[in-house]
Amino acid sequence: NPNRRVRTRFAPSPTGYLHLGGARTALFSWAFAKHHDGDFILRIEDTDLERSTPEAVQAILDGVAWLDLTHDEGPFYQMQRMDRYREVIASLLESGQAYYCYSSPEEVQTMREVARARGLKPRYDGTWRPEPGKTLPAVPADRTPVVRFKTPVDGVTTWNDMVKGIISIANTELDDLVIARQDGTPTYNFCVVVDDWDMGITHVIRGDDHVNNTPRQINIMQALGAELPVYGHVPMILGPDGEKLSKRHGAVSVMDYERQGYLAEGMINYLARLGWSHGDDEIFDREQLIQWFDGSSLSRSASQWDPKKLNWVNAHY
Ligand code: GLU
Repeated sequence: NPNRRVRTRFAPSPTGYLHLGGARTALFSWAFAKHHDGDFILRIEDTDLERSTPEAVQAILDGVAWLDLTHDEGPFYQMQRMDRYREVIASLLESGQAYYCYSSPEEVQTMREVARARGLKPRYDGTWRPEPGKTLPAVPADRTPVVRFKTPVDGVTTWNDMVKGIISIANTELDDLVIARQDGTPTYNFCVVVDDWDMGITHVIRGDDHVNNTPRQINIMQALGAELPVYGHVPMILGPDGEKLSKRHGAVSVMDYERQGYLAEGMINYLARLGWSHGDDEIFDREQLIQWFDGSSLSRSASQWDPKKLNWVNAHY
């Protein structure tokens, strides 16, 4: 729906510093929203209690503040939205689009092995999945169920990715996803869907390590009757040696560059050029970026981090 107000989000998991890849995703989401006079939303995906820290939250806030990627709403914290997720899980159970699954982890493991042995994708076998005319097993007395989403049995899930073009996944490839664990806590993909829905997100721009999550998220979105966002998956940033950019390539935390005296404007200019281009323009300012960043010209191939290039760009500011 082209008349919807454009709303994008940056949704980091606060498990470490804001790295260059995250900063670039934030920049793309921000620039796209601003280009369309829309809203940019900051959401902290802090449900992984083992790995999330307040220091990491602060590092992310510092990073986006240094780059001046001002958010119009948020930060929203997923841990503060638990009641909402539970409410949506209850409504999916109510409408029969999700179900209680009493299979034990060992039983699920066996089902997966059986599927694998038959040359099929390892998956839950649907024992507890309600179907018209099907009698479900008796509920075991001593077990607490998980909640599974009823993924469509056949058909394909397709989307037109802003970066990668048409992507289609057969629904048989997808499992009946667990959306609530035994202790009732919602799982990762489910929280993302509820948030993108509630926050009215129209364009999801994120790293392509999330491509596999997208068909699962789309199916849940559709079950909720939500209007689907447009998805765009940007390839990762590679180090100068062609391997995934990591610590051994030098500083990968955005704030390390701030401490080294780099200018935010230079950083933005350089990050924008990693995976996006505007003709032959190399040096541009924030306003030009906003003016040009319409979602086209995002590169399908991975870009390489080049410290010399960063220095060259930085020298122009
Ligand atoms: N929290 C996820 C991450 O940090 C991003 C989720 C998303 O953008 O959908 O990788």
